[in-house]
Amino acid sequence: MANRKKAWLVSAAAAFLGAAFLANSLLSSPEERTGQTSRAVLSGTAQNPVSPVNAEPSSSIGQPPATGEGVHQPLSKRIVEYHINVEYSPENQKLLGQQTVTWKNPGSQPVQELYMHLYPNAFASEKTTFMKESGGKLRGDEAKKGSFGDMELRSIKTGDETDLSSAMQFVQPDDGNPDDRTLIKITLPKPVAAGAAITLHTEFAVKLPQVFARMGVTKDFVMAGQWFPKLAVYEPAGTRGRTAEGWNLHQYHGNSEFYADFGIFDVRVKVPADYIVAATGFPTKNPVVEAGKKTYQFYADDVHDFAWSASPNFKVFEEPYAAPNLPGVKIKLYLDPKHEPYKSRYMIAAKKALSRYSQWYGTYPYSTLSVVVPPEGANGAGGMEYPTLVTAWGASEGTPDLELERVVVHEIGHQFWYGLVATNEFEEAWLDEGFTSYTEDKLMELEYGSKPNLPVEASYITSPAALQKNAWGYRSHGEYADNVYTRAKLVLKEIENRVGLNTMDRIMKTYFQRWKFKHPGTRDFQTVVEEITKTKWTEFFDQYVYGSMMTDYAVDSIRIRQANESGQTLYESSVLVRKFGGTVPAVPIRFHFADGSTTEKIWDGQGEQIEYKLTHKSPVDWVSLDPKYTLKLENRHINNYMKTEVDTTWRIRWTLGVVKLLETLFDTVAW
Ligand SMILES: [Zn+2]
Repeated sequence: MANRKKAWLVSAAAAFLGAAFLANSLLSSPEERTGQTSRAVLSGTAQNPVSPVNAEPSSSIGQPPATGEGVHQPLSKRIVEYHINVEYSPENQKLLGQQTVTWKNPGSQPVQELYMHLYPNAFASEKTTFMKESGGKLRGDEAKKGSFGDMELRSIKTGDETDLSSAMQFVQPDDGNPDDRTLIKITLPKPVAAGAAITLHTEFAVKLPQVFARMGVTKDFVMAGQWFPKLAVYEPAGTRGRTAEGWNLHQYHGNSEFYADFGIFDVRVKVPADYIVAATGFPTKNPVVEAGKKTYQFYADDVHDFAWSASPNFKVFEEPYAAPNLPGVKIKLYLDPKHEPYKSRYMIAAKKALSRYSQWYGTYPYSTLSVVVPPEGANGAGGMEYPTLVTAWGASEGTPDLELERVVVHEIGHQFWYGLVATNEFEEAWLDEGFTSYTEDKLMELEYGSKPNLPVEASYITSPAALQKNAWGYRSHGEYADNVYTRAKLVLKEIENRVGLNTMDRIMKTYFQRWKFKHPGTRDFQTVVEEITKTKWTEFFDQYVYGSMMTDYAVDSIRIRQANESGQTLYESSVLVRKFGGTVPAVPIRFHFADGSTTEKIWDGQGEQIEYKLTHKSPVDWVSLDPKYTLKLENRHINNYMKTEVDTTWRIRWTLGVVKLLETLFDTVAW
């Protein structure tokens, strides 16, 4: 999911950073200013833009691959197989569905219970865990008063018609909230042996709420995400460090997204005849119109979710596209009419993202990628990722800024970090949001020249928390977002900073290639980092990933002592630098003297503090730690700088710089 930028804070923070730059610049020689401003230039990499190669247009209609030897080798383990018929009725905003789902036991033990997520029940009342945790709010959007949604399992039977309705039980493993019905346990008549499969037939009904938190209806726009009874993930031993196999069970939470297994989806969607449907996968035949209704049929394999969206108003545009390491994909746009004038901006953003990510990490393996642009009032459905289908922000009036491209680039990033490398979003959200934010920044800078202001972003992190943590364990949506998006991205930028861009590219590519179509955890990423760099990263991960540290080095004091040596007046400047946060291996420190000269030193960052004594013909008048902003996790920039009034007496004097005062005034911004 895309996170809304804190626009006001960016400008406010930028203004203060600007002031700090200015203060530095006034005191620096021109050479030093060059050094400071080159920070931005250094991080840009000149690469030639991709030359798109247009593939031959392929037919809109695909065929599910025939099974059999040598034909379409499965890319994933295909634990689940869904066959769903669903009909949408605009009169009551309801979905009626029949689902046949087959589950294959991937473990080594017999399993006698299945668990399904009934996500729409998150919107069933104000007492659900989702609503209590979120207060009915998400990313500035609000649940509409009196608009509820729910899911009812009307029947559930095994393949041999054994009725299991009395074997169902809602469970609340996370908080015991009896009003939460988002997870159901189904006890089977007999266990499913390791490697064996079971098929269940269910009938279900979903009342869609007004669009909020990714799903629902706004006028005649429908977003069906998390709309069918969806099996939980059974993790074999070894998955994400598990020692014993078992189900990974969580309710739908205010801050959490999802987790599911790979498989096959064969879905028929029936809508009013004038509706157009966008969906995961590809259509296997042309829609059939009968008695005022239109039925679409879609197929997708090696994906772990299926979403669709419908509206009579979509403006549809399709283009086949191929690029190096991207053999051919059909990009489909389903635009709210207000954004029809921007169709080429959406298309270009999708092409840039698909081609770059395929080059950087590995081939996008699916034949379609659909971009849905919801109407303005349905923004709650915007900025969301599903396998092969993403939603952009709602189409508002006025010329959109670069956020139009950014959200497409972000959500397509999730095709790689979520869709393919299918991490557990309940428990390790940083592995999809942090990685996607890192990837998004890299592309936006390279293709759109939009450079992130990382020091300002770091300054947002006022409440750092561990990254490998349940999404609902963060104290607020703000804390969740600041950590799993921004802090996580800065962790990756700091790794890049230490190992260099080429090695970082190898780390990301290796991690992607090793874990696509699987469910890695944080340790699996650490293992890749350690393998590629041939170094232990224990301290780094303990402090910044499993722990909640940021980097915080500070100039603590500057003391000046005048000394006379053989008739010449000299000054001994004592500068105390302290460490308050996590460790970095090299802390650059610039000392500036009253005569305009400077000297730089690198502290190895070990220990709690270090004192520098510099003897020179004039006293130190300011000290700047990390003057080029190379420490990506340094979030309290205000204490990195200290200026002193020169005191020429013998008296030792502690100074309080202006910046120290600002720190007191603005401590909530945590420079
Ligand atoms: Zn996201």
